[in-house]
Amino acid sequence: MKKDCTHCPKNGEIDLKYLGKSMCKPCFCRLVEKRIARTIRKRGLITRNDKIAIAVSGGKDSCLVLHFLHNYCKILKIPLLAIYADRDDPYSKNQLNIIKSQTKKLKIPLHVVSYKKELKTSMQDLRKIADKEGTNLCSVCGVMRRKLLNSKAKELGATKLATGHNLTDEAQTYLMNFIKNELKHFKGVSSPTVKGFIPRIKILRDVPENEIKLYCEIKKYDFLPTPCPCRIGSLRFSFQKILNNINEIRPGAEFAICSIGDKITEFAKKQYKPQKLNHCKKCGDPSSKDICRTCQYLN
Ligand code: AMP
Ligand code: ZN
Repeated sequence: MKKDCTHCPKNGEIDLKYLGKSMCKPCFCRLVEKRIARTIRKRGLITRNDKIAIAVSGGKDSCLVLHFLHNYCKILKIPLLAIYADRDDPYSKNQLNIIKSQTKKLKIPLHVVSYKKELKTSMQDLRKIADKEGTNLCSVCGVMRRKLLNSKAKELGATKLATGHNLTDEAQTYLMNFIKNELKHFKGVSSPTVKGFIPRIKILRDVPENEIKLYCEIKKYDFLPTPCPCRIGSLRFSFQKILNNINEIRPGAEFAICSIGDKITEFAKKQYKPQKLNHCKKCGDPSSKDICRTCQYLN
């Protein structure tokens, strides 16, 4: 039997089981937008004096961040720019094509930094480093990417770096932290603000991944449908599958995981003093050790 939209007289086409709601497409989109605006307000993520750099990957998440902040920042007259970290592999070529068209359409200036030019490294090198360190490619690549994005954002005078991390990503991180069974891993999970780094903001932090996908499809945005191939085989990939199973049994479980995870984070922050940061002896970036992880790897 067809249901009505919970919010208006139209047909309810989208079932949000965890809310017990059925919604039409326009009401669903408004719900997503309201959620993002509430996250920004509640967590104080953006102020009028900010200059925001968006980390773009061509995927649905950063595509939504681009479109949302384009509207949001226009009203508040906040300057926006986009940064992409190019790995110079076949996947990157597809990413760059889509990112160029996304940013051009919205007239957001795009800056490209590259693993090859700026770090003098390649995916082959990173694969070797990962094997040597006994870790996966995704983690090593992530360390490099964060470094590149942070340096470029700093150089361009950005005060915040917005990423497309969503509720599902956060729930995965929390699940991974739960089984590490150490409170210290919870510190700053939800809002990493380390002095010396450009603060990263996650405006999609309260929106589940499948709803972001649906939103982008309804809006007919152009985005890369396939995730980065390196992710397969990573620890996060395994937790992604586990979380999908939990969500099947218990719709909305990711909201519960994040809610309890946030409470543990608050508790952990009180237990541990902020870590003292030195400067990396090689590159000068803030680091908890003498040599930062990027420089350690690239050595
Ligand atoms: P992922 O870990 O692939 O889910 O990416 C999370 C977020 O990191 C994305 O939504 C982007 O904001 C950012 N990101 C991922 N890859 C890149 C990249 N190559 N360049 C710039 N930002 C990226
Ligand atoms: Zn360094």
